[in-house]
Amino acid sequence: MAFPVMEVVLGSLISLYLVETYLALRQHAALKLPMLPVTLQGVISPEKFKKSRAYMIDKSHFRIVHEAATMLMDSMILLYRIIPWLWKRSGSFVEYVGLDAENETLHSISFFVAVLVSSQIFELPFSLYSNFVIEAQHDFNKQTKRVFFKNLSIELCISSLFGAPIVAAIISIVQRGGNYLVIYLWGFSFVVSVTLTIVYPLLIAPLFNNFTALPDGELRKEIENLASSLNFPLENIFMMDGSTRSTHSNAYMYGVFNKSIVLDDTLIKQCQDTDKVVAVIAHEMGHWKLNHTIHAFAAIQVLLFVHFGVFDIVRQSSVLFQNFGFDTQPILIGFFIFQHVVMPIQHIFSFCMNLISRSSEFKADVFAKNIGYGTALQAALVKLQEQNLSAVNTDPWYSAYHYSHPPLAERVAALDELNKKSA
Ligand SMILES: [Zn+2]
Repeated sequence: MAFPVMEVVLGSLISLYLVETYLALRQHAALKLPMLPVTLQGVISPEKFKKSRAYMIDKSHFRIVHEAATMLMDSMILLYRIIPWLWKRSGSFVEYVGLDAENETLHSISFFVAVLVSSQIFELPFSLYSNFVIEAQHDFNKQTKRVFFKNLSIELCISSLFGAPIVAAIISIVQRGGNYLVIYLWGFSFVVSVTLTIVYPLLIAPLFNNFTALPDGELRKEIENLASSLNFPLENIFMMDGSTRSTHSNAYMYGVFNKSIVLDDTLIKQCQDTDKVVAVIAHEMGHWKLNHTIHAFAAIQVLLFVHFGVFDIVRQSSVLFQNFGFDTQPILIGFFIFQHVVMPIQHIFSFCMNLISRSSEFKADVFAKNIGYGTALQAALVKLQEQNLSAVNTDPWYSAYHYSHPPLAERVAALDELNKKSA
């Protein structure tokens, strides 16, 4: 008897689900704690704590239900051989519209769009509930149902428009790749990711939000001064109308060589004074100065290279395809099988990436502190946490596994420690 790969994959899916559910329950218990952690007592007001606690408990309930439904769905898909069925159907569809069903590229694009649409349909009730019940009840949701569906259709169109040529390119690369396939695939993914990094802020982000140059004034001047003192290649500073969709706040940078800064208008409102906003930017510039972005990019490239190497092995194993219910070996299905086979390792990788990311966050905080923004950053972090109602009490196991950013209590404590040392 052949090795039952599909059953092993299903087994690891369930084990992983059980582990993550155990962590989620631990986190749920932490969220229910009626007291602030010691570091944040007197820092966060009791009303804000009460609000954040209620919001996080609602979100946690939702997450537990969502995870259970996803798990059930994924198991059904494997057990009832939905993927082979959908693959056949997508082929029939290509034939139905009068195209050549023998053409693997057309067949794969049809399958890709079918997967995209069906996963959106599965997610729809959850994202509706999350936006219009949970977020709305806690006063975060600012989008109407019309805007929600408009954005959803734009996202679906963009994914299909960008996804279809990418699928076609991958298939043609795999068909021709020969011995150097892994290098070609990696080169292709490199070009695509660099292109998307350039194209996204210029062409795609403006479809969802309005961007205006930050008006002249104290804030602009302070950011420009900070940038020039650090030799930061500042190109432009934009304000984004993030408040039209949600009152969660945000700031980010983009650009490969010259960088632009985008400030969410809610961030400016929530921080209230210039100092705090500039402190947040100082932290972001810390990531740039300490090369965190480049290191993360390089790490991802190495991971991708390894991934493509494993994919090359998976796609050539007819036994694996048979295990998942396929007599043929379509390239796109190879990716699907590959994803399932490496899933447990991927979770370990993402845990390691979170570890590295959290240590980078501390380093960027230290950087901001060293250039004089320690106190303002601390105040900004507390303010943003209060406004965004993020979790105040966190379970250490849960946050170690899931969080890319350290919990507020840890960041405030680390900055306190530094302030004490320098005092
Ligand atoms: Zn950061």
